[in-house]
Amino acid sequence: MRRFSSVTCPCNDSMPRPTESKRDQTALALYVHIPFCVKKCAYCDFTSYAGKESEIPDYITHVLDEWAAIRRELLKNQASISTLYLGGGTPSLLTENQMTRLVRGLFPEGIDPSMEATVEANPESLTPSKLACYQELGINRVSVGIQSFSDAHLRLLGRLHSARRARECLDMIRRAGWRNFSMDLMYGLPGQSHEDFLRDLDEALGFEPPHLSTYCLTLSGGVPLGQAAARGAIHLPPEAEILKMMASLDKTMASHGYEHYEVSNFARPGHACRHNLAYWTLSPYIGLGAGAVSFFIEEVAPWGSHWENPGSLSGYAKRARNHSWAFHERSPLSHREALIEALLTGLRLKRGLSIRALAERFGEEAIGPVLQKAALLAAEGWCEMDGGSLRITPGGSCLLDTLVLELIPES
Ligand code: SF4
Repeated sequence: MRRFSSVTCPCNDSMPRPTESKRDQTALALYVHIPFCVKKCAYCDFTSYAGKESEIPDYITHVLDEWAAIRRELLKNQASISTLYLGGGTPSLLTENQMTRLVRGLFPEGIDPSMEATVEANPESLTPSKLACYQELGINRVSVGIQSFSDAHLRLLGRLHSARRARECLDMIRRAGWRNFSMDLMYGLPGQSHEDFLRDLDEALGFEPPHLSTYCLTLSGGVPLGQAAARGAIHLPPEAEILKMMASLDKTMASHGYEHYEVSNFARPGHACRHNLAYWTLSPYIGLGAGAVSFFIEEVAPWGSHWENPGSLSGYAKRARNHSWAFHERSPLSHREALIEALLTGLRLKRGLSIRALAERFGEEAIGPVLQKAALLAAEGWCEMDGGSLRITPGGSCLLDTLVLELIPES
């Protein structure tokens, strides 16, 4: 696999800087945001828009223009793409023609079979012919938003599908021969008991998904369900009940042969999501589309920088039109910020962070104090260091942000 080339960092010898070999080791993950949904779910504060399907054709044009500009100007037409993730929103809302135009436009020579190429889907819009189209295009992983098998909870969440449709959808995916698929399941739902969740989990496992993502419902004040919770119209389960659900989740998944490889994710051997691993290892990625974020290392930002595209459809269209990069915010990371981010993302992984890789990337001088702090936290049971790795213990995973700030000395 060809690597994209990195560039020499600016000559400022007083600052720590990554060495050439450390910055040259990764292929690129490509994310494409499809911000269209039939209707907003009651808990959703993602960048997605309901009732704007008529704008999809122009949006695809803008995404392809943005990609052409990034390839030409940033990647010098030399990037190697290791993973593709079509996320949303609801990518399965795209018609087969629209999806074909998008994927063929991104990969005129076809998707390399060695790539992991994922499409997100929702049960109400996924059909056998769309699944066949994805396979034809070389997409080899589908991630489906099931969330629950309870009609009452699905209604409360404002999801468009029923429990029956969820089951039919999973049967359809399995019948179509997909060996690599994932499902999203939520817990901590209003009025949900520990037993309710175990029933959902049991039903999910009956479909033998190679990968399962689980999310505890969190509500912002700006979404309908958050407002209902604030005025006492709905009640989230008490913390003790949620902790019980999390403990049962861990135990049940382990007993079914899944590895809890990341805070929210479980996989059968060989099925961890390669695309998301790029985020968690602070590897370069490009995000195309409204609200998408990229991370890239370049001459002016040797520790990497994040670029963020405008979230509104019109703001994005304005920037991406005319074949140009669409980001409206570029935030270069300092050495300290990059180290914090590497710890925050890497410590989400059960395998933790390689101490050697951290030292190679950020310098022995920066990592020494982190390890001294880690030894203190390890003595208190919050993290552990062995086999050359630094890991957060299960007890520490709820306090990840706080622990990472503890690990980093004041600047
Ligand atoms: S389907 Fe997903 S992105 Fe769309 S409204 Fe629901 S939660 Fe948000």
